[in-house]
Amino acid sequence: MLETVVETMRVVIAEDSGPSRLALERTLAKWGYEVIACKDGNAAWEELEKEHSPNLAILDWMMPGYSGPEIVRMVRAKAEAAKAPYTYILLLTSKNERADLIEGLEAGADDYITKPFDQQELRVRLRAGVRILNLQAELVAAREALRDQAMRDALTGLWNRRSIIEILTREQSRAARQTMPVGVLMMDIDHFKDVNDTHGHLAGDDVLKEVSRRLLASVRPYDGVGRYGGEEFIIVLPGCDVASIQSRGEAMRLAIADQPITAYERQLSITASFGATVFIPPSTLDVADLIRTADDALYEAKRRGRNCVIYQSSPVPENAN
Ligand code: GH3
Ligand code: MG
Ligand code: MG
Ligand code: MG
Repeated sequence: MLETVVETMRVVIAEDSGPSRLALERTLAKWGYEVIACKDGNAAWEELEKEHSPNLAILDWMMPGYSGPEIVRMVRAKAEAAKAPYTYILLLTSKNERADLIEGLEAGADDYITKPFDQQELRVRLRAGVRILNLQAELVAAREALRDQAMRDALTGLWNRRSIIEILTREQSRAARQTMPVGVLMMDIDHFKDVNDTHGHLAGDDVLKEVSRRLLASVRPYDGVGRYGGEEFIIVLPGCDVASIQSRGEAMRLAIADQPITAYERQLSITASFGATVFIPPSTLDVADLIRTADDALYEAKRRGRNCVIYQSSPVPENAN
């Protein structure tokens, strides 16, 4: 999901002069910012050091405890180390400190404002900061969307082959650690070549999309559904044991076979065959073994006439007792 761009902006202000701090606090609150006001540098760092700290800060240059530039350096070092989101920092300076501004900006501050601050100036400088923070949030969201795209099958939106194998690998090792079973279903649409040959490839694509939708609708949020290849799918069911895998597979089989699928304005009766197996710790079978076993069971389902779920127990490794 796309991360939403920052809405109510939280801002840390650090200023040791009481009247100046109060003026800042009031002004920012009036503009809709959620203000965290600090009396000295140490209190400000305590706020900015937190995991979900505000992304915007206005720091006085000279104050008890850490100075503004010192905090800037620490915030930048933290972001470097923890890959934290960007913090936009404005330094507050008195006019006679202007000569030192280079130092503040070199420490990593984004901008500065002189005291006593002018409301209009503060407002536009803050707006520039918020603009940069929003751009950054959009970039992060775009990067996440790209990552998501790389993990999904373009036609069906399901996990792609690489991702579903990764999911199975992860669930299998989690299951081994927690002594829990993992169910694996391998599914293949029956006589799918005929759908393409009779109704065309685009109708075939519609069937793949609708089958995927129905599969997703019949699993739980933590189950994984992936497109393994052309018209083959893998469903990973964490916690699903031998007693329930047959009925879980049966529910999916019915979800596909019970209602005709509309493809290219035609009503098509589609069925699918399922091969099922369950990983049961302390089994040491690896992911390839599990997929092979589910595949063997699927082959058996085809042999027995298709549109059915066949379970095959995973072979017990030779060194197990
Ligand atoms: P079986 O019941 O034995 O599984 O028969 P089948 O016809 O489903 O199996 P076969 O392996 O002979 O054919 C699979 C077909 O799936 C062939 C291929 O053209 C089609 N296919 C694979 N990927 C896609 C796709 O992305 N879109 C479409 N429309 N067809 C695809
Ligand atoms: Mg001061
Ligand atoms: Mg096939
Ligand atoms: Mg097939």
